Amino acid sequence: YRAKANPGTYRFFEHAMDRELKQTLRLQRDLHAAIASGAIVPFYQPLVRLSDGQVAGFEVLARWNHPIRGHIAPDAFIPVAEEAGLIGQLTTLILRQACLDASKWPQHLKLSVNLSPVQLKDTSLPDQIFRTLRSAGFPTQRLEVEITESGLVNDVNTAKTILSTFRTSGIDVALDDFGTGYSSLQNLRSFPVTKLKIDKSFVRAMKTDPQSKSLVVGILAMSRSLGILTTAEGIEEASEGVWLQSIGCDYGQGYCYAKPMRGDEVPAYLGGAKAA
Ligand code: C2E
Ligand code: MG
Ligand code: MG
Ligand code: MG
Repeated sequence: YRAKANPGTYRFFEHAMDRELKQTLRLQRDLHAAIASGAIVPFYQPLVRLSDGQVAGFEVLARWNHPIRGHIAPDAFIPVAEEAGLIGQLTTLILRQACLDASKWPQHLKLSVNLSPVQLKDTSLPDQIFRTLRSAGFPTQRLEVEITESGLVNDVNTAKTILSTFRTSGIDVALDDFGTGYSSLQNLRSFPVTKLKIDKSFVRAMKTDPQSKSLVVGILAMSRSLGILTTAEGIEEASEGVWLQSIGCDYGQGYCYAKPMRGDEVPAYLGGAKAA
């Protein structure tokens, strides 16, 4: 009502909204073109087995290789892709490239691919994924999908069906960003989840916040008793990895091991990591 009371302010808001809308539309249009031209590329961050420090696989993280703005982080464009109905195409593009890259790496290394919550409403999702894997000659057993709990709350039965189809085909399912947002322990019981990824905010807070530390201890104990594997995200210091391993965490991911890298950097990284 304040905006209406002052015509100047009203015009200001009108212009601001207009600008924002135009920006969103421009971003959507650019993203369309970027997907069509293959300018969205996969980066890879290692998932390290904490017991022996060996690389077990890589998480696939999308980057927009923008001609002017450089590599744009996914938080800036994944939501746009979701809104514009482009997330399916984007996933296919990223997954296809990731399968081609990973085909050149040792066969025991897995790929973990992020799926958006909106994709878990679409029962054709497994077929889309299977088709992409088949055309790249990539075995389902080497794939893991990462989902967040917000994808499980809307259409529970559809999400359950999709995840069961993945599991039946040998695709692992990891629950990402565990401990944030919609977290519910019920999800661990009622969805066919193989792994749980503890959100990096807990891992980062562990050092200074005893409650975060207790929560991590509790999550690990609970996962173990449920037979669910665990990964801790956001490990930035070696000592954090050592401690997490000592309290039963299976895998670690974070800048302490490696930052996300281009596909052509992976072989050299693996060559160096093996010696470690
Ligand atoms: P995520 O799946 O939870 O991925 C982990 C994020 O943590 C990545 O950010 C990674 O670069 C960052 N990270 C890893 N280690 C550390 C660390 O030690 N410290 C800190 N501070 N951060 C660390 P990124 O690459 O910016 O991705 C952000 C999010 O975007 C991802 O979170 C995921 O939800 C989403 N995303 C990325 N690629 C895709 C994709 O292909 N499809 C979909 N649907 N979502 C994607
Ligand atoms: Mg993830
Ligand atoms: Mg995460
Ligand atoms: Mg995240």
